[in-house]
Amino acid sequence: VLYYLEQKQRSARLQWPTPCLFCGRVARQHGLCAGCMESLPWNRQACPVCALPQTTLVPHRCAACAARAPSFDVAWSAFRYEAPIERAIHGLKYHAKFHFGALLGGIMAIQAAQRPGALPQLLIPVPLHSTRLRWRGYNQALELARGVHQHAAINVDADAVRRVRATADQIGKTARDRAKNIVGAFVATRDLQGLHVAIIDDVMTTGSTVGEVARICRDAGAALIEVWTVARAP
Ligand SMILES: [Zn+2]
Ligand SMILES: [Zn+2]
Repeated sequence: VLYYLEQKQRSARLQWPTPCLFCGRVARQHGLCAGCMESLPWNRQACPVCALPQTTLVPHRCAACAARAPSFDVAWSAFRYEAPIERAIHGLKYHAKFHFGALLGGIMAIQAAQRPGALPQLLIPVPLHSTRLRWRGYNQALELARGVHQHAAINVDADAVRRVRATADQIGKTARDRAKNIVGAFVATRDLQGLHVAIIDDVMTTGSTVGEVARICRDAGAALIEVWTVARAP
C-alpha cells in the first residue's frame, strides 16, 4: 500500500500543471502559457546590425549603424523592452528571481538557434564590478548565460572580461555620456584569438556597454562578435 501511495504521489507530482510565470494559468512551453507566449513583445522587426526595434515591414540598417558601424558584428535581441519582459528582467536583476534567468536564457537559446549562421563558441556575460557583485550577490548576465548554456551547450566564460572600474549608473544619461562613462571599464583576461563569441546582457539601450566589451574582445583577438540580449530598448 505504501508503495502504491508513493507511486500515486509521484505521478501526481509529475502531472501537476506548472503555473505560467506571468499570469498563473497552465504553462505549456518554457514555463509560459500559450496566450502569454503569443503576446510577448518579440523583437521581430529590427535593425539587422544593432537590433533596434523598427516599425517598417522590411528591416533596414538604422541611421546610427549607417553613420558608424558598431564595434560588434551583429546584435540580436529576443524582445523589445516592454511589459511583461521588463518586469521579468527587473525581477531577475534586483530580486534574485533566478527562474526568470532560466526562462529568458532558454528562450534566447532557442531563438538564437533559428538565426542564420553558426552558433558562437563562447558566451561572455557582461561582468559586474566586484563591489556591485558583492552587494548584489550575483550577476544577472551570468544567470542568463547559464540559461542559454543549458539549452544550447555553448561554454560560458564569466571571467574572460573583467570590470576593473566601477561606473556610475547609466540610467538617465545621454548616449554620449554613457559612452564616455564606460571607456576603460573592462579588460580581457584571456586570449580570444580567432574565436566566435557572443556577449550576453539583459538589456541593450544605447549599446555603449556591450560596445565597449566588444571592443575589448576584438583587441583580445575575437574574430566574430555577436551581442545577445533579452530585450532591446529604443
Ligand atoms: Zn500566461
Ligand atoms: Zn542599427
